[in-house]
Amino acid sequence: MKKKEENDLMGKIVSLCKRRGFVFQGSEIYGGLAGTYDYGHYGVALKNNIKQNWWKKFVDNRRDIYGMDASIIMNSKVWEASGHVAGFSDPMADGKQFNVMFKTSVGAGEEATGAHLRPETAQGIFVNFKNTVDAFHPKLPFGIAQIGKAFRNEIAPRDFLFRQREFEQMEVEYFIRPEDWEKYFEYWRGEMLEWMEDIGLDMTKVHELEVPDADRAHYSKRTIDFEFDFPFGRKELFGLAYRTDFDLKNHKLEYIDEDAPSAPGKITPHVIEPSMGVDRILLALLVSVYAEDNKDGEARSYLKFKPNIAPVVCAVSPLLKNKPELVEYANTKVFAPLKIEFGRVAWDDNGNIGKRYRRQDEIGTPWCIVVDFDTLTDDTVTVRDRDTGKQERIKVNELKNYIKERI
Ligand code: ATP
Repeated sequence: MKKKEENDLMGKIVSLCKRRGFVFQGSEIYGGLAGTYDYGHYGVALKNNIKQNWWKKFVDNRRDIYGMDASIIMNSKVWEASGHVAGFSDPMADGKQFNVMFKTSVGAGEEATGAHLRPETAQGIFVNFKNTVDAFHPKLPFGIAQIGKAFRNEIAPRDFLFRQREFEQMEVEYFIRPEDWEKYFEYWRGEMLEWMEDIGLDMTKVHELEVPDADRAHYSKRTIDFEFDFPFGRKELFGLAYRTDFDLKNHKLEYIDEDAPSAPGKITPHVIEPSMGVDRILLALLVSVYAEDNKDGEARSYLKFKPNIAPVVCAVSPLLKNKPELVEYANTKVFAPLKIEFGRVAWDDNGNIGKRYRRQDEIGTPWCIVVDFDTLTDDTVTVRDRDTGKQERIKVNELKNYIKERI
């Protein structure tokens, strides 16, 4: 893409996000707060779909990964042990190092304890390693997964959701025997690629970067950055790191490996870490699905979300909103049952049908369902496909299955 088109694309995405209730600037009516964004109705829906899809694949559908939701405010001792107090810094323009963690204190006066807002979800997992082992007695290899907010006082937040001061991560710490690290590194590489494809990322824009020795975090023996062609350049989307036994060693945590093939006994498990940013994937997804074409002689922009990720799965409309019999039918026989079944269902009776289609296209709704006068006699409705614009008549009592089969 040429530079101007790239800028235009970002501009279009940012403005669509605001106009259609996906993402707003944080604290906007007070002039904003740099590096913070607020998600609106459709943005939350999209973000929840991304997170639920991830949780299903990496926790619910597996037997070897345990969920976790740790506190955001953590004792500063955690961050001393993990090396973040000494080393989680970025260089400032004048060459000084600036620690990007948000520091705070908990409690009043003399009793106050030093605390930090976590800059990564990973340490919340490591400090609960023993609790998890004691509660569930997992056998190696096993993982602990967490989705949650992380905070970094980035020196220069920029590029919309890409570099924020408050963002969300989805991480798995996968504990293994040291001799197995190469096998599981490859395994997680495949899992990450599969997931990216599953949620509908444009895979032609995804590239793997083998991070050279000099650029790797101090704890990592191998890291792959999954990069994405954003309109503002090719940038890190996710990371996959072999963190060795660095973190568990720092926290003095061990594991009794009774089933070790070589020497059963106490070991410090090693860790493979797939680390993903929720906001970055959401932005990469918007870039992947944004499209423009001409429909019925009119230019339109639309979002080609896969139905499993789209914030709204279908919209229901009475052909005319001033005809009570159409409104009543659409509301009770179509909208209500679909809403109960899928939740993410919109009611849209504003303006003419063409306008409603455009509006739903713009937020990426895969199907628009219209109740018209024929519906009243034959119990069929029009289902219009977002991408092709094609319409077909479907029996009202087959709608649920029609959507379920395609979701
Ligand atoms: P970068 O080099 O871009 O600062 P990083 O290598 O410091 O990123 P990690 O510490 O590996 O990032 O964090 C894991 C993931 O968290 C990243 O791959 C990214 O998806 C997400 N992430 C990190 N920092 C931010 C941020 N400031 N805003 C949004 N997402 C972020």
